[in-house]
Amino acid sequence: MIKTDVLIIGGGPAGAACAWYLRRHNIDCLVLDREPFPRVKLCAGWIQPEVLADLEIQPGEYPHSFTTFSALRIAIRGIGFPLPTRQHAIRRIEFDHWLLQRSGTPVVTHHARTIERADGGYVVDGEYSGKYLVGAAGTHCPVYRTFFQEVHPRAADTLIVTQEEEFPYAYADPHCYLWFVENRLPGYAWYVPKAGGYVNVGVGGKAEILKANGDTIMHHWDRLVEKLARRGLVRDYTFTPKGHSYYLRQSFGKVRVDNAFIVGDAVGLATLDMGEGIGPAIQSGLLAAAAIVHGTEYTVDTIRRSSLLPTWLFGI
Ligand SMILES: Cc1cc2nc3c(=O)[nH]c(=O)nc-3n(C[C@H](O)[C@H](O)[C@H](O)COP(=O)(O)OP(=O)(O)OC[C@H]3O[C@@H](n4cnc5c(N)ncnc54)[C@H](O)[C@@H]3O)c2cc1C
Repeated sequence: MIKTDVLIIGGGPAGAACAWYLRRHNIDCLVLDREPFPRVKLCAGWIQPEVLADLEIQPGEYPHSFTTFSALRIAIRGIGFPLPTRQHAIRRIEFDHWLLQRSGTPVVTHHARTIERADGGYVVDGEYSGKYLVGAAGTHCPVYRTFFQEVHPRAADTLIVTQEEEFPYAYADPHCYLWFVENRLPGYAWYVPKAGGYVNVGVGGKAEILKANGDTIMHHWDRLVEKLARRGLVRDYTFTPKGHSYYLRQSFGKVRVDNAFIVGDAVGLATLDMGEGIGPAIQSGLLAAAAIVHGTEYTVDTIRRSSLLPTWLFGI
């Protein structure tokens, strides 16, 4: 049996941020992730500058390059306008790996399946034990499944389905485009050029509304591919998109039960306007770690609910 103080399941941004904070406070922890890093994570990789501030990432410290946009090219139902704002786009395959390494935490490749309570702590698959347990394994997190399903039900009307692809491409247009609610898509489509000659394109929308409209996310993906070709953004490329689903911010039940915590997509924290989940995942990881270190209450109430729009638009 491998023993540690804090067992973290999932080494994405939420788990890595939690581990980074714990290690800085000399708390012994171990990250289990089912995939060896660097690993592919479906995500457009758009982050706000506060992500770098939250993790105290100094200018020049990040070893990879990332794109910085001074404006987003937004279109709502076909009406376009530039939105001046400072934003970054990283590649998750690079960013997540670096964050995990930076945390200085040991990482074991292990697909966590069963979790039991034993000796006042938690045992994963009979092999790993921790006094505390942090569920950072995303939408299908086993910690969520085992301890939180009933006390923190995730609302079906906040489930987002996506199709996306990131690929090397000699792009000519360096702007970031976001197309909202076109062709009755209950969400938006994007084109994000990345440093190092990569492009990320995708569509995301609310699953329940798509279903009620007799629509599918694949249908919107096909429309996006047509649009990219028509506008000359991506041409002569054979796409093989993949899908993933995650939850937007919702009203919360419990995010801590005894010494088990959930963070990031396991909670469902992505912002209501943009589905931005990296920043909220990192903040929740830091908050959970702070609760363990300082014995404070763990709550995600302070994490922002929207990215660009005022929160009152969402009635919150
Ligand atoms: C197509 C798409 C585009 C997106 N674009 C953006 C964007 O541009 N900006 C933004 O801020 N957010 C975006 N998001 C949301 C963002 O990707 C997530 O909110 C964010 O990754 C959540 O981080 P996390 O650490 O909670 O989970 P994850 O990043 O999903 O990390 C979870 C980790 O847990 C591991 N894991 C899973 N199950 C197990 C298990 N049983 N045992 C062990 N390990 C396990 C996984 O391998 C993974 O490494 C997007 C999401 C999608 C699907």
